[in-house]
Amino acid sequence: MPVATHLRDVFGFDSFRPGQEEIVAAVAAGRNTLAIMPTGGGKSLCFQLPALLLDGVTVVISPLIALMRDQVRGLREAGVEAGALTSGNTQDETDAVHEALGAGRLKLLYIAPERLASGATLPMLKRAGVALIAVDEAHCVSQWGHDFRPDYLKIGELRRALGVPLAAFTATADAETRAEIIERLFGADRPEVFLRGFDRPNIHLAFSIKDSPRKQILDFAEARRGQSGIVYCGTRAKTETLARALSEAGHSACHYHGGMEAEDRRIAEARFQREDGLIVVATVAFGMGIDKPDIRWVAHADLPKSIEAYYQEIGRAGRDGAPAETLTLFGPDDIRFRRSQIDEGLAPPERRMADHARLNALLGLAEALDCRRATLLGYFGEDAQACGNCDLCDRPAEVFDATTSVRMALSAALRTGERFGAGHLIDILLGQETDKVRQNGHAELPTFGVGKDYDRRQWQAIFRQMMGHDLIRPDPERHGGLTMTERARPILRGEQQIRMRRDTIRAAKGTGPRVKALVGEEDAPLLSALKARRRALSEAAGVPAYIIFTDRTLVEMAQTRPMTLDAMAHITGVGAKKLATYGREFLAVVAGASAPVHPQRLKLAGRDQGGLFDRLMQAQTELARGPDGTGKPMSCPANVLARVATLGSPDEAALRRVLGERHAERFGGAFLEILRDS
Ligand code: ADP
Ligand code: ZN
Repeated sequence: MPVATHLRDVFGFDSFRPGQEEIVAAVAAGRNTLAIMPTGGGKSLCFQLPALLLDGVTVVISPLIALMRDQVRGLREAGVEAGALTSGNTQDETDAVHEALGAGRLKLLYIAPERLASGATLPMLKRAGVALIAVDEAHCVSQWGHDFRPDYLKIGELRRALGVPLAAFTATADAETRAEIIERLFGADRPEVFLRGFDRPNIHLAFSIKDSPRKQILDFAEARRGQSGIVYCGTRAKTETLARALSEAGHSACHYHGGMEAEDRRIAEARFQREDGLIVVATVAFGMGIDKPDIRWVAHADLPKSIEAYYQEIGRAGRDGAPAETLTLFGPDDIRFRRSQIDEGLAPPERRMADHARLNALLGLAEALDCRRATLLGYFGEDAQACGNCDLCDRPAEVFDATTSVRMALSAALRTGERFGAGHLIDILLGQETDKVRQNGHAELPTFGVGKDYDRRQWQAIFRQMMGHDLIRPDPERHGGLTMTERARPILRGEQQIRMRRDTIRAAKGTGPRVKALVGEEDAPLLSALKARRRALSEAAGVPAYIIFTDRTLVEMAQTRPMTLDAMAHITGVGAKKLATYGREFLAVVAGASAPVHPQRLKLAGRDQGGLFDRLMQAQTELARGPDGTGKPMSCPANVLARVATLGSPDEAALRRVLGERHAERFGGAFLEILRDS
């Protein structure tokens, strides 16, 4: 069968993502390959598809048990014989895998790295007839990385013993890690290397100055109610308080950090993987095992530690390619915190230098004056045009020449022996005679009172941007006193100009919540109905929603409204097996909703009640057969829903009047909750 047919029939994709085709061709041709692709780039397909084309079984090694089990489930749903051997197996599962392997039916065998240490593994694989070894998260072989897995060191040996090609995949790009992977996995049998771009064009990038962080995060989440998201926090305690605040605001939210019991962490991961619309508030401990393609947003309540960490964390959003959004909050305290973390760490000096540089790169991005994506990709060595999908492309920054102000600030720092923090330096610039100023005789300085053109808040923004541009750094030896860096010297000497953002100097207000709907106003109700059906199916089958169909697939269904199974088969993500299993179910939803949009709904279009109407509609779809799904089908006419949406003061009695006794009994409670939440 040709490749394109497999792509279509098994995986339900019309075309390859950038880079996939070449990799699939090389792997299927039996060449050794190393592919570096960004998270969400579609690595799995690059070994799953060749596995179908090759004779024999493809052995997949991955460090993440949950992820392996998910992939196996996804493959089986698509009609592919796959199995996993991990410590999480039941005996029955293991027996079934061995049986399929013995019968030569298995196309993909996922094994956990620790299995490689067992003497039984090699003979078993030799008997089974291995076609290919695929290694996911190949950077785990690197001893210097933080994800090092000693068992990965055995993979090279396995490859030589079996004498088969190996395909390695990772999202980690740096040259040293790459060289190490090649050395350890391939040795003299050099692989063909594929380096895919780092851009994730569907992810919207935004930074905001932290002014009321809790409210900023709550607003951001509120504008995306019902969508799955992650909030990253700098401390464990904060994950708990923020998760509580989100829950109190009516979101479904939980916290996650490394201090929790392993079992509790596992539960949170499983919930997130499975539930549609859960928010996880977490430290960076959350992420490695997360393979959920439909995370719609990632927010940072605190600044990440480096540009790499930032890229990896936001990269968890929107793997399915549908629009996703991010927001990163930062302020002077974050900068100080991250700097001192590096300075107080135990790493050798050259390592600390490198860490400061990585933090600087992130701060440069936070304080960027033009397109964030171009700045981010520039760091990874890629050229890019203004992207049109970041906050600075949405609203260009107002920039001013800050050279004079910066020189004043530097001068204040130098003339006071680089021993003071921003607060005191600003007092000097503003000419404030505080006790500290008097005690130190700082009112006599030539810089005293030279900065009265700006107020305190504006000076704070200048100092923050100076830290962001790494012109000054808090010195841990001097209790955080700000010292000038080499970078600042040319500015002080008048050899270099510096521009800064004015809008962050003026009222440092956020840009306000920005919501991009997945579909247009007229398709929203159908999308809700499709999601409701998906949820019902996923709950019944006990699998994550996206295993049935991803958001992207549902969006396409809502927009193109296929009316026949043939038309349905053309939707991205609908392969032959899924078409057979779920086609009719979703067709029924489309058919049910594809009467033209009700005029009652159109009247509400663009108004708050429009969204309300859709939520009522969704609740109604979910309860169509009662709370346990066995009742008599029931629904309310659209004009009744429209009246409910516009009810001024919702209470039970008013609802009963509009809905009638019978309908109020089924839908009243759910509707009331929605109305009160809105
Ligand atoms: P990663 O590179 O992070 O391992 P995955 O292999 O999990 O990425 O793929 C990410 C998402 O992209 C999945 O939801 C997958 O179904 C989807 N995907 C992969 N290849 C294609 C394609 N050619 N067309 C459309 N969607 C694709
Ligand atoms: Zn941009």
